[in-house]
Amino acid sequence: MAKTKDVIEQTEKFGARNYHPLPIVISKAEGVWVEDPEGNKYMDMLSAYSAVNQGHRHPKIIQALKDQADRVTLTSRAFHNDQLGPWYEKICKLTNKGMALPMNTGAEAVETAVKAARRWAYFEKGVEENQAEIIGCVGNFHGRTMTAVSLSSEEEYKKGFGPMLPGIKLVPYGDLNALKEAITPNTAAFLIEPIQGEAGIIIPPEGYLKKAYELCKEHNVLFIADEIQAGLARSGKMFACEWEGFEPDMYILGKALGGGVFPISCVVADKDILGVFNPGSHGSTFGGNPMACAVSIAALDVLIEEKLADRSLELGEYFMGKLKGITNPRIKGVRGRGLFIGVELTEPARKYCEQLKEEGLLCKETHDTVIRFAPPLVISKEELDWAIERIKKVLEKE
Ligand code: PLP
Repeated sequence: MAKTKDVIEQTEKFGARNYHPLPIVISKAEGVWVEDPEGNKYMDMLSAYSAVNQGHRHPKIIQALKDQADRVTLTSRAFHNDQLGPWYEKICKLTNKGMALPMNTGAEAVETAVKAARRWAYFEKGVEENQAEIIGCVGNFHGRTMTAVSLSSEEEYKKGFGPMLPGIKLVPYGDLNALKEAITPNTAAFLIEPIQGEAGIIIPPEGYLKKAYELCKEHNVLFIADEIQAGLARSGKMFACEWEGFEPDMYILGKALGGGVFPISCVVADKDILGVFNPGSHGSTFGGNPMACAVSIAALDVLIEEKLADRSLELGEYFMGKLKGITNPRIKGVRGRGLFIGVELTEPARKYCEQLKEEGLLCKETHDTVIRFAPPLVISKEELDWAIERIKKVLEKE
């Protein structure tokens, strides 16, 4: 097997430099643990940005993958496949919605949501053609496609990629009045992450999401929740919107929808919204493929059967309590919901992530000064204690 040093050299020689990974190569993984080619073990505290909520290589999900690989892997949507129907029913029942549309990556699902919202505005709401507006939030992260970066407030994400998509307005996250002022008769949708992940695990003020939803209802505006990262048990609820006891008009899901095994994303909404698509208006060669659907059914079963939302809630409280107990003037704050936790520092977090790696813990800085702790939700209390000891050692060091 190639050694860490060689793999990194090869990657840096031939790969586009659009990432800045920690200097570790992962060649094996199971549950919450990963291993490099030299056999060193690390605890995964990132879960591939919450795509591995069910743990690495969950046996039930891997079995579904293998079984499906032995039958049929791709049909395209020119034909039906026998996994798509059951998957539709499963995701609709889980979200309490009437219709779903599968894609592959999160950003593609965001594209789909924006297209659905625009069409809904023209076909259903009566907005004049080409006038539809989407309202997003400052600090959002919806992916890297042109629509997603057009929605972003980060200059770094947009630099050199113009012209951006028109018809987008941004309002400060958590500011209800700003949302109220931004809504016009042309507003199609308000698109929001119920917890902003990439911005550094930002939780909006209590009651904001529900009030924003009610405001949207008042003005016939779709409330679209991007739960690609915060959803599917990560925040201690199946969906982060549950924290405020409401159901958005549309969910955008991805990441853990494929259990970290196969990419699948989707939008889910009622028929009066997703019914705006007709044959020819949208699609994807791989969207809804039998491998993705079979894996996703197993991935959702694992979330439900193993009560991973409850587990995240309970262990998240425990873990956050321990993190809050760490004393260091460089810690500005600890925040989170479930096992979706950010420790904000007064200085760049990269150095600490590198030190944590030396202690056997893989974390990634987000937004420069935040260390994100988001382990697979199958983690045990004992494993969290193991992690706490090492986090303490690094963060309490002078
Ligand atoms: N939306 C949110 C909230 C995300 O966190 C991400 C990825 O981090 C995306 C969208 C984009 O997903 P993908 O990287 O699968 O395109």
